[in-house]
Amino acid sequence: MKGEREQKLISNVETSSTKKETMGDPSYEEAIEALKKLLNEKGELKSAATAKVEQVTAELKTAASSDESVDRLKQGFIYFKTEKYEKNPALYGELAKGQSPTYMIVACSDSRVCPSHVLNIQPGEAFVVRNVANMVPPYDQNKYSGTGSAIEYAVLHLKVKEIVVIGHSACGGIKGLMSFPYDGTTSTDFIEDWVKIGMPARKKVHAENRGEPLGLQCTFCEKEAVNVSLGNLLSYPFVRNGLVNNTLTLRGGYYDFIKGNFQLWTIDFQLSSSLAL
Ligand SMILES: [Zn+2]
Repeated sequence: MKGEREQKLISNVETSSTKKETMGDPSYEEAIEALKKLLNEKGELKSAATAKVEQVTAELKTAASSDESVDRLKQGFIYFKTEKYEKNPALYGELAKGQSPTYMIVACSDSRVCPSHVLNIQPGEAFVVRNVANMVPPYDQNKYSGTGSAIEYAVLHLKVKEIVVIGHSACGGIKGLMSFPYDGTTSTDFIEDWVKIGMPARKKVHAENRGEPLGLQCTFCEKEAVNVSLGNLLSYPFVRNGLVNNTLTLRGGYYDFIKGNFQLWTIDFQLSSSLAL
């Protein structure tokens, strides 16, 4: 009976905590107080139930911060709409008709490296894929259809002129690639397998810089992994065609947000036919 009563009370609290409009409602405080009172009366349940109170309180706090998060998004959109959207009717009018971006950009999901900010990319200028460690996987219709479909759409339908893969300093994904044991054990559901795409970069860095500190090896790997991705782009037939026909250029980039600089490079894949005259 004690358990049922406690559970019922907790259910009520949890149910009301999901309703935004009840935030700050006295019923919250009442429910928490009632739960605490119950716990004091039933000392034998104290330990487990105290943990439950803490859990419920944490949920309430989460709901409160969620409210602030929504407000941040609202304010962000209001700023964008008044300061950018409504002040650039020509641009947004054109974009309403369609897109014709020059670039496809592959960047990391890291919150510090948004290419639109770092490169001042405007709406309509770049078709962007972001993932952990800015990886381009090799062509594989079964395993990597998400990235593959983005590359296919960018190259064949949007006819982008450049694909730019951008790595960055202090990349957590690359640090993982350099640190995971890859000995048959795994500690993540997805990350190890995903960043393993950059394994050739890890091997190269290990071969050439084995004695260096991990941080420096990671910096090397952040750049080498970009080159691996550029190489993997060649496994996509439509990318190869674009390179051979000179309608597409591949570039590597590296944004160092510690030093505040940006590198850009191209790789000569020598795909041009030697017979071209
Ligand atoms: Zn990263």
